[in-house]
Amino acid sequence: MDNDKKVKNEADIQANIKANIKANIHEDRPADNEKDIQADMSEDFQEELVKLRRYFHEHPELSWQEYHTQEKIMEYLDKLGIPYKKSCKTGVIASIQGKKSTGKIIGIRADIDALPVTELSDCPWKSKTEGLMHACGHDTHITILLGTAKLLKQMEEELTVTVKLLFQPAEECIEDSGAGYMKEDPEALSCDRMIALHIWSKLPAGTASIRYGAVMTATDTFDIFVKGKGGHGALPHQTVDPVVAGSELVMSLQRIVSREISPLEPAVISVTSFSSGNAYNVIPGEAHLKGTARTFNPEIRKQYPEILNRVSKGVAEATRTEITVDYHLGPPPMINDTACVDTGRRSATKVFGEENVLDWEPQMGGEDFAKFKAPKCLLFLGAGFPEEELRYPQHSPYFAIDENVLKLGVAYFVEYVREFEKELCK
Ligand SMILES: [Zn+2]
Ligand SMILES: [Zn+2]
Repeated sequence: MDNDKKVKNEADIQANIKANIKANIHEDRPADNEKDIQADMSEDFQEELVKLRRYFHEHPELSWQEYHTQEKIMEYLDKLGIPYKKSCKTGVIASIQGKKSTGKIIGIRADIDALPVTELSDCPWKSKTEGLMHACGHDTHITILLGTAKLLKQMEEELTVTVKLLFQPAEECIEDSGAGYMKEDPEALSCDRMIALHIWSKLPAGTASIRYGAVMTATDTFDIFVKGKGGHGALPHQTVDPVVAGSELVMSLQRIVSREISPLEPAVISVTSFSSGNAYNVIPGEAHLKGTARTFNPEIRKQYPEILNRVSKGVAEATRTEITVDYHLGPPPMINDTACVDTGRRSATKVFGEENVLDWEPQMGGEDFAKFKAPKCLLFLGAGFPEEELRYPQHSPYFAIDENVLKLGVAYFVEYVREFEKELCK
């Protein structure tokens, strides 16, 4: 498909889908005497959400550099009269204290960073920063949490809980990620439970998925350094070739999942980078491999470093090289807490309709929300266009979402707070 056509399609779809969502969602919403959240969702408010999202989309910032994003978040909170503090350099934690608070605290977290990806679509709100893009949709997470802040602030007089709004930096930094620091902030530690969502382009707009147990894997990474002895490309016998050793190692690492891990366990070991040498006729002295190791199972995760070291040692011996493995622990698996999901499914059913709340398969991607200590759950918010070919995956340079689901994300968070309040009253 050429780019013009794609952009036109996307604009058409953005216009049409609004009506579809209105027609399909909430029809079987249980009768409820409370004020319907949809009633709060004025056209103006929805437009405000879209405007906010496009602003953040146009101004992406890399992990740990989200200074402008932080400023914008604080500016919006100032307008709402919501107190906040900076947290973890480029993050923000705001607090809405219910006037009838029983002392219970719920945290809602949004990640705020973008990726080093060059946006290739030509939508009018395309990234204005060359080489950076909100290709994971964290611009929508910021927007949804700000929208949630606005509605919850209006409910402050009646709120029986306190809500902490956590705008977390640097989710995409696998090892040195923002949640690893924010989880230690006293505001985060004070939460009795925490919720978050991730927008998902592969799930159709108007649906959501929230399941019990594991939803995303542990996301560890590794560097492997192969040291040989360089020399002339025509005289390999006088060298110790790290390219051949590294190649053998790549193949040997493939055998770990296929021959050492139970076929019933989802597991991945991928070598994603191999660099060595730069000439046609020189055998280099060193090679550097990078990769990622993933699993839902904490026992398998514990074994990975030992297995990688053992396999590397064997290859080193066979090839006369020296091989060292640096294994880095990333976020643990994202495990949804049962009580949190109970509340989440009830809330999602009200917002999306029962048939639109899915129990989608766990994902091999990682999520640093897993690092927070409170019981928690993560919902996937469907944002995919009806046309399969427009549903580019997360991190794609063409990644795009249906903006009409922003209000559904807000509705879910607000409904969750209400459901949590009801549970506490019981
Ligand atoms: Zn991502
Ligand atoms: Zn993400």
